[in-house]
Amino acid sequence: MKKTAIYPGTFDPITLGHVDVVKRGLKMFDRVVIGVADNPGKGPMFDVETRLSMVRETFKGEPNVEAVCFNGLLVDLAHGHQAAAILRGLRAASDFEYEFQMATMNRRLDERIETVFVMAREDYTFVSSRFIREISSMGGDVSELVPPVVVPFLAAK
Ligand code: ADP
Repeated sequence: MKKTAIYPGTFDPITLGHVDVVKRGLKMFDRVVIGVADNPGKGPMFDVETRLSMVRETFKGEPNVEAVCFNGLLVDLAHGHQAAAILRGLRAASDFEYEFQMATMNRRLDERIETVFVMAREDYTFVSSRFIREISSMGGDVSELVPPVVVPFLAAK
């Protein structure tokens, strides 16, 4: 039986920090399904289809990575893909509070699904989608922090 993890997020846009979380997830799981949250309330820079297509393009050579978009409960998405775990990344202590609440809430909703965290790699602890959007909108070069497919999308904004 293949072990699947769901990696949910906004991915607005996907960064090399996210890519690193997926790669490390693949050391523990046979398959990682990336769940791109619709999250219209967050006022994302890119619509969900664009975010999804950037994620798919990033992992197009990787058969054990899939990407879907979702807007319901994460535990339902996890179920639909027979996932044993939810995968998340932790950068600084500031991530902890929110991640802890989310993991606790998801466990209340469904005890069978564990949330598993990987610590950000040193080179990417400061990389966030928000930081990428801000720097890029002010004309800064972020091409070393995002997958190549993302660069023209940022430039077009
Ligand atoms: P969300 O809106 O759910 O926070 P994000 O797309 O910002 O979605 O992040 C998805 C997950 O990836 C979160 O668990 C976040 O902490 C993690 N993450 C984001 N950037 C990094 C990074 N540079 N290194 C490790 N984990 C990261």
